[in-house]
Amino acid sequence: MSRSESKKNAQSEPSLDEDRVVNPAIVDDEEPTLRPQHLLEYVGQSALKDSLSITLQAAQKRKEALEHILFSGPPGLGKTTLAVIMAKEMGVNIKTTSGPVIERAGDLAALLTNLQPYDVLFIDEIHRLPRIVEEILYPAMEDFELDIMIGKGPTARAIRLNLPPFTLVGATTRAGKVSAPLRDRFGLSYRLEFYTKEELTEIIKRSAQVLKIKISPEGAAEIARRSRGTPRLANRLLKRVRDFAEVKRKGSIDQEVADSALKLLHVDELGLDTMDRRILSCIVEKFGGGPVGIETLAIGVGEEADTVEDVYEPYLVQIGFLQRTAAGRKATALAFQHLGLQPPRGSQQNLL
Ligand code: ADP
Repeated sequence: MSRSESKKNAQSEPSLDEDRVVNPAIVDDEEPTLRPQHLLEYVGQSALKDSLSITLQAAQKRKEALEHILFSGPPGLGKTTLAVIMAKEMGVNIKTTSGPVIERAGDLAALLTNLQPYDVLFIDEIHRLPRIVEEILYPAMEDFELDIMIGKGPTARAIRLNLPPFTLVGATTRAGKVSAPLRDRFGLSYRLEFYTKEELTEIIKRSAQVLKIKISPEGAAEIARRSRGTPRLANRLLKRVRDFAEVKRKGSIDQEVADSALKLLHVDELGLDTMDRRILSCIVEKFGGGPVGIETLAIGVGEEADTVEDVYEPYLVQIGFLQRTAAGRKATALAFQHLGLQPPRGSQQNLL
């Protein structure tokens, strides 16, 4: 099963699968209603927003297509949302696809030749584009030209098509895996950062308003604190807590309700779930705190190495629980402490 298929299947999983509740790579169905439509509604990432806003205004003034833009960062931080906003602010259409779905050069040619002038083509997981497709993307991005082969064998011939000016917006969870020639063809490249608790509280309050959920400021802050710095999780946890509040309480969410619901979902006070704890315990208990190679670790926890790397590790690194070293992954003293264990001697400096 391809990764996109497994992602699709994951969407239809029952919503109370505890292992998955904080997996930001799974996309919820309800998201379109919660997605901000304008840059002003987009919370956080202020340096990026300032820069994009200038780019937008300049392109509008010159009546040109926006420059090609690459967004990178862990899943659920708002890359797709930004692409949708860019198109909306420019008043153009957006076509959405993803790297592994475009298997042949012809798939990309069909997408590109159907664009209207200035449209946005959004390619998610762009680091997974096949090389042969990537190569025909270069002249398309640079000169709005498409070189394609018509026919096969001795009668085959190359033709060149002119394309309307368009903007390619690429998104990737692995900036390091985007090939250098492709990366060089993006005029702008931004890395999205995890959100602060205050920003997530704002997002939760806005989503609660859209979904007509009653929530106290303390309730919103509690969910924010446990959302792993990720808006997609903040929205998902809000919906789960709402379910709990409707079934077990009078419907409105305060800090106590949020805390009880999240405990029931096995989301701890830092937002770590069963899989995060399994990863940390595996490094600590099976490999003496590490270093352990990513493939071995993935087998140890029964998850794909890509998922461990893209989905779980970035936040564990961010909160100082995990170190990625040349020799492999290491649990820090903070991680030992969180698991209620004594850190090995010599790792106390990690507690500073
Ligand atoms: P990515 O493409 O990086 O995986 P998305 O753009 O799909 O993430 O964002 C996931 C969800 O999180 C969106 O549907 C939106 O509701 C919410 N979201 C993301 N970024 C923001 C933001 N800056 N402000 C408000 N909501 C956001």
